[in-house]
Amino acid sequence: MKNMKTILVLHTGGTIAMSEGKDGAIIPGKQNPLNSFNNPFTGKIRLDIRNPFNLPSPHMRPTEMLALRNKIMQAESEGIDGVVITHGTDTLKETAFFLDLTLPAEIPVVVTGAMRSANEIGSDGLHNFQTAIQTAASDEAHDKGVLVVMNDEIHTARYVTKTHTTNVATFRTPSFGPVGSVSKERVTFFSKLIRQTYVPLDHVVDNVYLLKAFAGMGPELFETLALQKTNGLVIEALGAGNLPPATLPGLQKLLDQHIPVVIVSRCFNGTAESVYDYEGGGIRLEKMGAIFCHGLNGQKARIKLLVGLSAQMSAKELASFVNDAVS
Ligand code: ASP
Repeated sequence: MKNMKTILVLHTGGTIAMSEGKDGAIIPGKQNPLNSFNNPFTGKIRLDIRNPFNLPSPHMRPTEMLALRNKIMQAESEGIDGVVITHGTDTLKETAFFLDLTLPAEIPVVVTGAMRSANEIGSDGLHNFQTAIQTAASDEAHDKGVLVVMNDEIHTARYVTKTHTTNVATFRTPSFGPVGSVSKERVTFFSKLIRQTYVPLDHVVDNVYLLKAFAGMGPELFETLALQKTNGLVIEALGAGNLPPATLPGLQKLLDQHIPVVIVSRCFNGTAESVYDYEGGGIRLEKMGAIFCHGLNGQKARIKLLVGLSAQMSAKELASFVNDAVS
């Protein structure tokens, strides 16, 4: 390990930056409580702390994600050793995956948050912040893509998801599990992504939507989105990637307007694949022109589609980018 590392800290808000008021409501304050954190790694790790946003994460948009990406690119060109982003947990995985796809960074980039605000009993914010710094400063965290560190576990931005509304062990990686762990003394990795993707971007498009399919669904919601301003749609389809037959005229309308439609599964585990050849079955959807996205959930597939569209990929490039299971 280099003698003294400098870690850029970008605070963006979320519960980790909030406190509980007298009535029990969790609210953001003018001061981020994390700014009074005493660096426990003095002499080993220097912290360059900035507060670009103080937003609850439901307020986070792709434009803020792009601004974070640009700040990290700038800091990397100035020789920073690693980055920690503190973020609300509700959309944490979306920001983390956006950064994963759009940063060429080989330096560690770690995103963390908290389930309990700063003054609540059992608050997890400072602990998660500390372990995120430890991870960002570890030599082993290089070249692993963007990481999410919560509750002493390290997850890849690509596969992690929030699984519980309140539990501190909410961040999980269905199917694969975490890629590492953090203890008092060390950061340990036991796997890494096979391949990473870097998509250069200078702007982000909007009007990329996400819908969940349900039993008895009709064409109405798809028809509502068959507009000129719609740039893309991700559908959390049923099971392995099937839709009720009544949706198909709506789907056809979207495809006729050359709006990319991406199919993932609404199941929590597993991957969407075109397996069934009946009306509304995945094989038929693929024949109609829908793109299957393997292994990502709806929110992540939407970020991937949005990144591909923002990079102005051709229809063919977009389909293979979104379809590719390991990038
Ligand atoms: N609603 C909060 C947010 O995402 C929850 C959290 O931070 O954990 O900002």
